[in-house]
Amino acid sequence: MSEFPKQTEVVVIGAGIAGTMTAYQLAKRGVPTVLCEKGRVAGEQSSRNWGWVRKQGRDHREIPAIIESLRIWEGLEKEIETDVGWHQAGTLYIAKTDDDLAYYEEWLGHARDYQLDSRMLSPDEVDDLTGGEGRKWKGGLYTPSDGRAEPAKAAPAVAKAVERLGGTVLTECAVRTVESAAGKVSGVVTEKGAIACQAVVCAAGAWSSFFSGNLGHAFPQLKVKASVLRTKPAPLISQTSIGSPGASLRRRQDGGYTIARSGSSYFQITPDAFRYFREFLPALQTSMKPRLRIGAEFFKELMRPRSWSGDDVTEFEKTRVLDPVPDPGTLREVLAAAQENFPQLGSLEIAETWAGMIEVTPDAIPVWSGVDDLEGYYIATGFSGHGFGMGAATGLIMSELVTGGKSRFDLEPFRLSRFTDGSKLELNAR
Ligand SMILES: Cc1cc2nc3c(=O)[nH]c(=O)nc-3n(C[C@H](O)[C@H](O)[C@H](O)COP(=O)(O)OP(=O)(O)OC[C@H]3O[C@@H](n4cnc5c(N)ncnc54)[C@H](O)[C@@H]3O)c2cc1C
Repeated sequence: MSEFPKQTEVVVIGAGIAGTMTAYQLAKRGVPTVLCEKGRVAGEQSSRNWGWVRKQGRDHREIPAIIESLRIWEGLEKEIETDVGWHQAGTLYIAKTDDDLAYYEEWLGHARDYQLDSRMLSPDEVDDLTGGEGRKWKGGLYTPSDGRAEPAKAAPAVAKAVERLGGTVLTECAVRTVESAAGKVSGVVTEKGAIACQAVVCAAGAWSSFFSGNLGHAFPQLKVKASVLRTKPAPLISQTSIGSPGASLRRRQDGGYTIARSGSSYFQITPDAFRYFREFLPALQTSMKPRLRIGAEFFKELMRPRSWSGDDVTEFEKTRVLDPVPDPGTLREVLAAAQENFPQLGSLEIAETWAGMIEVTPDAIPVWSGVDDLEGYYIATGFSGHGFGMGAATGLIMSELVTGGKSRFDLEPFRLSRFTDGSKLELNAR
């Protein structure tokens, strides 16, 4: 771990993929940067995700940024001279019904607008790609240039690259609050002391709204619990990441598969769920269709203070790593679906199960934004279950915002004020 610095130019809060990539891009530009992580690098979502890095199925507003993100991922291992498990073998969504096919065809319209290599596959082509037989599927949507990386490797490797470039990475170092003078960021207070700085990027994942709320910049953000399993080594049926009914599979570097199911997440009913009910209602009625669950989290979050000072021991130190318990029933169903859909896998054995807390916004697209009335405070969050692939672009965008006040991408749809300025939110229907 690096020495504790008294001052820097930029403090990045949170060493997930968003924070490490932001610190990396800043360090590459020679900007003195300190990355503070309350627990361990990639302890939360960024090591717990499926590892898909995909353009396929993205909301149309995210497509320009994800194209650039893929470009950065493609060159990352060479650039940082470290293995992150990068493999470019595409994404396949299998269609079981005509409705699935129609849904994928509709998305292809967006793909064509951006000249993506996405295309529909016939039942035979799906069999060829997955080692299956019998044409049991209606077809599929396929994007060969999509990729994947190993979540356990990526953010830690990028954090090491930050240090090699002269940046500082502090773990077990929660940022408690941000200090300001005359409406501008002047520093942060961490559990280990104060750091003077001119800018702060909050990339705190599921904690971003809670942290920002203490500064008067809360925004609608809720948590969804998603369970995942990995198998012991199993026959290679495809290098392509496959979404199939009831089970999504990604080939791992260790010869197993990471398997989970899209749409199997549980919305945690927390006090914020009531606080932001109005903002989330349209999404809950249409695209998200979540299963709801109330648990111990509700009461824990109800009891926690919503404002604090730099002298207080905060929730960030009390919960070093959000480590929810996976849902065994869901994972049993997921494994059964994988076996039924792909008998060519043989008998799969579970090596490990885990869960992650996904942070979502009401329109399920990210926040890449400054805030009103606090110059130098920026937020990168709200990736709504697809921010690993977008991590590389997030680093680029946030470094551009911090150093030049604007990005090469149109950030209007991603501004924080969309939640408060009376605009009608366009839901991400994907
Ligand atoms: C089960 C699952 C499957 C997923 N699958 C995919 C996928 O295949 N592809 C994809 O693109 N995305 C996927 N995602 C989403 C993706 O993982 C996230 O969008 C992405 O990792 C978010 O990165 P992040 O850096 O914003 O947040 P995180 O990785 O959650 O990191 C935030 C960090 O901030 C730290 N922190 C919080 N508050 C403080 C503080 N005050 N001080 C210091 N540190 C603090 C936390 O400890 C944490 O380490 C999945 C997510 C899950 C859970």
